[in-house]
Amino acid sequence: MAPKKGHKAIVPVQIVPEKRGYEFGGPLGAFVLVFGLPVLIYCFAFLCNDVSGCPAPSLLHPSTLTWDNLEYEIGWPEKGLVGLYDTEVTLWVLSYYLVLLLLQIFLPGQEVEGVPLACGGRHKYKFNTFRSSILILAALGAGTYVNGADFVVWTFLWDNFVQVITANLIITAILSIWVYARSFSIPAPGEPNPELRELAPGGHTGNIIYDFFIGRELNSRITLPIPFVSEAARTIDIGVFCEMRPGLLGWIILNLSHVAHQYRTHGYVTDSILFITVAQAFYVLDSYYMEPAILTTMDIIMDGFGFMLCFGDLVWVPFLYSTQTRYLAMFPAKMGLNGIAVSLAVTGLGYYIFRGANNEKNRFRTNPDDPLVKHLKYITTKSGSKLLTSGWWGTARHINYLGDWLMSWGYCLPTGFAGYTMIEAINTSTGELEKQAVQTPGSRGWGAIFTYFYILYFGILLIHREQRDEEKCHKKYGKDWDKYTSLVRSKIIPGIY
Ligand code: NDP
Repeated sequence: MAPKKGHKAIVPVQIVPEKRGYEFGGPLGAFVLVFGLPVLIYCFAFLCNDVSGCPAPSLLHPSTLTWDNLEYEIGWPEKGLVGLYDTEVTLWVLSYYLVLLLLQIFLPGQEVEGVPLACGGRHKYKFNTFRSSILILAALGAGTYVNGADFVVWTFLWDNFVQVITANLIITAILSIWVYARSFSIPAPGEPNPELRELAPGGHTGNIIYDFFIGRELNSRITLPIPFVSEAARTIDIGVFCEMRPGLLGWIILNLSHVAHQYRTHGYVTDSILFITVAQAFYVLDSYYMEPAILTTMDIIMDGFGFMLCFGDLVWVPFLYSTQTRYLAMFPAKMGLNGIAVSLAVTGLGYYIFRGANNEKNRFRTNPDDPLVKHLKYITTKSGSKLLTSGWWGTARHINYLGDWLMSWGYCLPTGFAGYTMIEAINTSTGELEKQAVQTPGSRGWGAIFTYFYILYFGILLIHREQRDEEKCHKKYGKDWDKYTSLVRSKIIPGIY
């Protein structure tokens, strides 16, 4: 930072921003992802359903595949495309966002400074997601205690699943257009920059679609005119808000609505859906508990906030990550003791590596004299930062990703050899003819396209993320990074990759 001395206070001055090249296939890749990913989300919602099966049967018999057939089999809205949207649903979704915003502002929280910015100074953040989510989950628990599985939140989410997706997509579109447009008010190099605004190194290529996708401004923040609360409480970091609040909590809430649906439809709750719901809630609540750790993640220090992160946070995470529980709500596969043991072992091992590695780095970076990390070996780089070369970070350069990926197996395995067809059969308890999900030889295994997609996608995401981080660290540390990679040779899986 080049401080400009005024008569009274030092006003930070904007620096020349760092610039990086294209990623994700450049403008063409950005275009495909902006328009393709929302379609993929709808495909998951429609093609694995409780109208005809998972997958919809015509997909397995291409000779019968016509739009007329498919339209019926996927429960396409009667009003057509317009039916994907509902104003009342959108208003309820907006109310959910508003509640989260009010809790962020008014509920007490911890105020923390972020990492030093390239333009100088640090932003302040207020963290209280753990408290906020416990409060919301307690309210949902109370509603369920009174109304059981018929509690209106659960039925609303199940009945309007597609319209809730659309509402979140609309919010994503508006928010990402707004942050993109607003980024043009960032002070130019040499101008006073009192709000410490800066462009993301990879987000100002000049190509509209690419910059819109990747995120032009690094820490998009707004300060609301709210009296009687601290500066940090009324300042909303849009990226941190979206990453931590609506989507992650929405993921748990959707899972719970799926559990309620399974109970309403089948009269019981399976070990499989409970296992996934508990494991994923634990994962989310754990990240809430460790909330300040978000400040050193790539999403906050390196990536701008644009369509990619906004869509990922608000749509992809809640609606794609809850696919397994949604599947099990329709087809109540049971795991049994052996299944639970295997899934628990995989998830537990993943969590042990993930949490162990992330905590080790956080501890080491905040207090290298902490008795838990004091004995670890490290190299000191020219920039002053230290890189661990023993402990978890001595086994692979991103051993934390391996832990995260192993956990994704634990979430998918409980769906077994997924796939079913909806068949009319007599309900033995009521004697009535009704549709039931049955695993036919033709459908068995094909549902895995939906329920195991997460493992594949997450593996690709983590490999790609590792490559991006590698590039960033190489640029930052130069020869020191080469030295580090010669000491720690594996990227993610020790001795293999
Ligand atoms: P990491 O927490 O892996 O941090 C990478 C940074 O750590 C590097 O840029 C470098 O930063 C520093 N570093 C690298 N090597 C060392 C070392 N040997 N010793 C000390 N510091 C080192 O980054 P991410 O933000 O990618 O991931 C955070 C967590 O979030 C991960 O566990 C990941 O699995 C998870 N995640 C989960 C997702 C999901 O959808 N569930 C999506 C994405 C991530 P510096 O410049 O400070 O040196």
